[in-house]
Amino acid sequence: MKRLFVIMMTGMLFLNSLVVFAAEEVSQPIFQPDWSVERLAQENNLDAKALLDQLAIIDTTATRAATLRELNISEEQANEAIRKLLVVTSEEKSKNWKLILLKFVLWWCVVIAAIILLKRYWVTPKRRTWLLAAAFTVFGIIMGSDPSPMGTVKDTIALFGKERIIFPPRLVAFTIFTLMVIVGNRLICGWGCQFGTLQDWLYQVSPVKKKIRIPFAVSNGIRITVFIAFTIVAIGLSYDFIGPVDPFKVFALQQLTLVSTAFIALLLLISLFFYRPWCTLACPFGMTGWLAEYISWFRVRWNQSKCIGCGACRRACPTGHTNYLLDGKMVKPDCYSCAACLAVCPVKALRYDYRSIDESVPNK
Ligand code: SF4
Ligand code: SF4
Repeated sequence: MKRLFVIMMTGMLFLNSLVVFAAEEVSQPIFQPDWSVERLAQENNLDAKALLDQLAIIDTTATRAATLRELNISEEQANEAIRKLLVVTSEEKSKNWKLILLKFVLWWCVVIAAIILLKRYWVTPKRRTWLLAAAFTVFGIIMGSDPSPMGTVKDTIALFGKERIIFPPRLVAFTIFTLMVIVGNRLICGWGCQFGTLQDWLYQVSPVKKKIRIPFAVSNGIRITVFIAFTIVAIGLSYDFIGPVDPFKVFALQQLTLVSTAFIALLLLISLFFYRPWCTLACPFGMTGWLAEYISWFRVRWNQSKCIGCGACRRACPTGHTNYLLDGKMVKPDCYSCAACLAVCPVKALRYDYRSIDESVPNK
């Protein structure tokens, strides 16, 4: 059964890699100082209004017909404006918008379904394994690497660093993903993200019995360092150092290189004995999502008056989040709403809910 599943996944991944949209080559600006704005836009396949907006000039019949010289626009300014618009156009063309819309609709369905299942204590480790497999099969193998929660943060910073441009649809996607984190504690990472669920699945089916855990302060310290270093290098040196090893490319086979293949293989290998290495040590969305978790509505809540102190949830939790809950610590380790703690608590002292269940412990 497992072998059949692996063969099917590999086949689908191969098919998917044939249909993934390749990034458009950005064309070079075409430019003559005596061309009118209208002609300039036409020659570069751009919208005249967008070009005028980029040049901060009011769009009128007269400005459209005027030459750049008449508008007092230097060659550098015009080149810069055209290049920025060409980059945005190429970003737009490289996206399969219908697929992206479908993916977001499905992700919201997953978020809502997960809340219902978690609230009803329906998620057992075995069921979770199947749900994780379904998530990375649908959102990664079938629907591809793009978009992804991580991409919305990484690519926004990288594009801004390289071109000083913000691609608005990516900001919208980032806002939606963050909203999903807020609605249900990290549900998009725990239940929907294609690479997050793949790592989690490997951890669950791993034959390695002795798993490695490191203190959250250490893993989060590494993640914060990676995030800051990435931002500085992307903005200061215009270099995206995650791009060449982007683990989401495991769902876009034709974009893999020797380096990225080796890096992803290493990550997947580590996932067998270390919980979600990419999410906890490096993912830029892992970092921003961790901050958003502080205001999540639906999350694991602890009922102190029911708790018998058996420690089962502490042992089951792969991130140390239950220690924060039970010990009232200040810093909140990631919680991927995995339900491991809910499944092992013998007295149901933990619940997945949007409000505190123990009035004596208002913050839990
Ligand atoms: S933290 Fe993990 S699950 Fe969340 S976006 Fe990053 S890779 Fe995906
Ligand atoms: S086991 Fe830990 S990570 Fe999983 S739901 Fe419980 S608190 Fe969150």
